[in-house]
Amino acid sequence: MRAHEECLACDLATGKRPLPGGRIAEVDGWVVEHAVAPLGLGTLIVKPLRHVLHVADLGDGESAALGPLLRRVSAAVTELVRPEQVYVCLWSHAQGRPGHLHFVVQPVRKADMERFGAFGPSLQMAMFLKDERPATDDIEAFCARVRPLLTQPARVRPSLGQ
Ligand SMILES: [Zn+2]
Repeated sequence: MRAHEECLACDLATGKRPLPGGRIAEVDGWVVEHAVAPLGLGTLIVKPLRHVLHVADLGDGESAALGPLLRRVSAAVTELVRPEQVYVCLWSHAQGRPGHLHFVVQPVRKADMERFGAFGPSLQMAMFLKDERPATDDIEAFCARVRPLLTQPARVRPSLGQ
């Protein structure tokens, strides 16, 4: 892959900057990592290996893989965290400039909402302002638990109601 200069997402993916927990999974041009932003333990990042700035610029293969991967990552954090909701969002607009796109998959616990008195974008903003990051040991332990869920073949689950 070709890394882009001065890109945090590329630097984390290539190991130029330390990534707590390491790469969790790589699937069809996408990588999964634990977030470095202060969005709580278990918040994962899904981003293309390529330095892509706009969803419209994704390739056919990357696009086809995206939906199943976001579903699988969301299911994995749901299984481990048992959150109230899993937010999946994409801003990638640091300092008002398009950045290496990365989906944030954030399991939101009831305790998070109660502690910050907020939910949705307001909760994320409150967490950014508080700027508390999980301990590296906790991130590494979480990554060790979530990695098998994302690197082993998907289990077949019966649909609800069947
Ligand atoms: Zn990049």
